[in-house]
Amino acid sequence: MDKAQIGNSDLISTVNSRLILQAVRVMQPTYRASVARQTGLKPATVTGIVNDLLSQQILSEVPAATPTGSDESGTRWGRPPLMLQVNADAKRIVAIDLEPDRIRVALTDLLVNVLNYQEQAIDRFSEPEAIIKTMLKLAGRALEDVDRQQLQGVGVSLPGLIDREAGVLISSTNMPKWRDVPIRDILQKELGVPVQVERSIHLAAVYEKWSDPNHAHRTTLMLTLRTGVGISIMHHGHLLTGRRGFEGEIGHTVVDLNGKACECGGKGCLETFVSASAIVARAAEMIHQGKCQGLLTAMRGGTDLRPELIYKFAKRGDRDCARIVQEIGKYLGIAIGNMINLFAPDEVVICGSIDMVE
Ligand SMILES: [Zn+2]
Repeated sequence: MDKAQIGNSDLISTVNSRLILQAVRVMQPTYRASVARQTGLKPATVTGIVNDLLSQQILSEVPAATPTGSDESGTRWGRPPLMLQVNADAKRIVAIDLEPDRIRVALTDLLVNVLNYQEQAIDRFSEPEAIIKTMLKLAGRALEDVDRQQLQGVGVSLPGLIDREAGVLISSTNMPKWRDVPIRDILQKELGVPVQVERSIHLAAVYEKWSDPNHAHRTTLMLTLRTGVGISIMHHGHLLTGRRGFEGEIGHTVVDLNGKACECGGKGCLETFVSASAIVARAAEMIHQGKCQGLLTAMRGGTDLRPELIYKFAKRGDRDCARIVQEIGKYLGIAIGNMINLFAPDEVVICGSIDMVE
């Protein structure tokens, strides 16, 4: 067998393993026959891979709740058939979310139940070395009681443009010091386990797909509102990604030709109206004009000026804060309307770490 054939058969069995794991996760507890039906794989292939996953303890077997039958006296007989489920505790995963102003680290099991969570605010103008050091410190804390053998890998969510093949963060408008940083290799060397990187906007779509298998039949636009704004497009379960990660930059589409200067060098970008920093800047400007006095009082009481606070005041009936929220809605509406005309999606999902939508 030549090298290419070995590579192909490895790849096929990896892909099939993932398909089977995914099917078990969605249907669990479930039977081997159901997994074969769901994945379209031959029963013999399913049996082989399931046995392998059972020996690695990634899957486990549980007796079915209903016994196989009972005799005339009503006495139950027969061993209940065995069903498959994911052994969530078999492995641990570390998820690192790098946002320009915050790092979040979660330790999870195989079913993404969060077992440990660490978070720290950062200065987005810091050198990459300092920020990576903080990431490693938080990951170290999350992994304190974890046997490294049990660690399956680390997934890193990054803002900005990436080269996902090379694991490099090419640039990020909101973190100007980051230029071609080989973040995957740096973290891999320090943590000693496989590391994968992806853009945060795409990971939101990946999670949608993971949590709802019906995405395989839909076109979804996923708008992520965070420090910046991005969009991810998933068509029939596949992410549309551009060359070298240059995609999803809806935040830098122009919605007002006479708008403010944007950090990207443009003018009137969507991000200058709806990003977390733009919302906060707008509120600060209004406070300066003698408006949004409720916010000022809250800030004097020690509360941080964050988008969540502005939204809370708008909901309570503060007219100035309501105006800010209306403006956000207006510009988001323009951008989303354009995207709907382009892609005719089945649904638009708005998500993010700024709690401006319900
Ligand atoms: Zn811009």
